[in-house]
Amino acid sequence: MSARLPSLRRESCPACGEYPGVGVFCSECGVLMSHPESGDFAAPYLRRLAAELLDLLLFLLLPLWLFWMWQTSRDGQSPAKSLLDLYVIDEAGQPITPQRMWVRELVIKRLVLGLVGYAFTLLGPIINAGWILMNPDRQCIHDRAVGTLVVVRRDAPTRAETLPEPQAADFQMPPPAPSGPRLTPPIPAPAPTRAVGHNVEAAPPSTPTSPELEALELQRTHLSQTEYERRRRALVRQLEESS
Ligand SMILES: [Zn+2]
Repeated sequence: MSARLPSLRRESCPACGEYPGVGVFCSECGVLMSHPESGDFAAPYLRRLAAELLDLLLFLLLPLWLFWMWQTSRDGQSPAKSLLDLYVIDEAGQPITPQRMWVRELVIKRLVLGLVGYAFTLLGPIINAGWILMNPDRQCIHDRAVGTLVVVRRDAPTRAETLPEPQAADFQMPPPAPSGPRLTPPIPAPAPTRAVGHNVEAAPPSTPTSPELEALELQRTHLSQTEYERRRRALVRQLEESS
């Protein structure tokens, strides 16, 4: 390939006579220095970028894909380059063959560079997960950002142990525990009902009790305050009615 390259260092540009820089195009006038008579000039940076991005957009529209490849390999103009009046030529100034165009567009641009890009999209999540190992609180970056922790519950009662059989029409099975992070801490209960977690014995003797109420106390950390109170009122009413 380097045999076809024009000499990279020249004294003066064949078209404008100025110092041409080190590229295949003159840095002054932009002419393709190996073929100054061809009328080929370096594409302006912004137009080149616009065509690249427009091609990417068009490539994502899958129904147009075959038309895109046909158009591109036919004369070295992708649809976007055609719209923006840009051409692909080889480094010797010659028209590019369809085969080279397909390798350029499909294998290199989409497949190889696409896979590189895909690998980089995994980088963030991997770093985020690896943060666990560097943080004494086992927090990921998203935990640090919103102030959350991930915990296990020791001695947590299993769901089956905590669910009372529904015995009244107004008693409903507890819904699944909320899956999202809890944004507000649980509101402390008023003093007479301050029986938290397994500490059912701490409830004052005046509080009515039943297996259903004890189960509700065990479920309490999974419930909102209003839901807890609603169920508790329902169970107390049910107890009073049956006694
Ligand atoms: Zn020049």
